[in-house]
Amino acid sequence: MRFVPSVLVVEDEPAIADAVVSRLRAEGFDARSVADGAVAVELCRRLQPDLVILDLMLPGLDGLEVCRQIQSERRVPVVMLTARDDETDLVVGLAMGADDYVTKPFSPRELVARVRAVLRRVADAAEGAVRRHGDLELDSATRRVRRHGDEVHLTPIEFDLLSHLLTRPGVVFPRDQLLADVWGYADGTGPRTVDSHVRSLRRKLGDDVVRTVHGVGYALGVEER
Ligand code: CA
Repeated sequence: MRFVPSVLVVEDEPAIADAVVSRLRAEGFDARSVADGAVAVELCRRLQPDLVILDLMLPGLDGLEVCRQIQSERRVPVVMLTARDDETDLVVGLAMGADDYVTKPFSPRELVARVRAVLRRVADAAEGAVRRHGDLELDSATRRVRRHGDEVHLTPIEFDLLSHLLTRPGVVFPRDQLLADVWGYADGTGPRTVDSHVRSLRRKLGDDVVRTVHGVGYALGVEER
């Protein structure tokens, strides 16, 4: 990323807020926290953060209302923090424009990985440019993919995976890194998830679309013409 992204952490539990802010700072973000929802809305207006991490359960103005108010002024990416029993609120939150959520308890490392994934998605969508590589064409704004000029329907996660491989054609991405960058998992579990999505990309777009580098990971298989 070319700039230092700024993140506003809205969380009333000091231990969690501190852990998240220090992890963000350690990973190069400009981060600060606020415990109060109404102050958060005001700070958001003043600081124009690149992303907001928002606890759903806040005293006073709750997370959903904070989300609604900050989204009503400008589009800002939001990652929600929820407890396991907040499911209804979570659904409402996602409907209100939150981009992702993390369930407590979480590791700050995992949360920061999710923050990176959201920022990347938002940046890709904002670019809106059609990226071409060989006979592949990806439109980040409409999330459409063509190969040999024919549109191919991908699931959102298949699109994100292909789009990520296309950010650095020819570079081999380890499976763990793809999990962290595309799915936002930082703990290294579930590399089979990557394998199964690679299989479906190959089924839809052709076997040669993704190259396996044994013992290492995957790379975009399509050659530049
Ligand atoms: Ca709380």
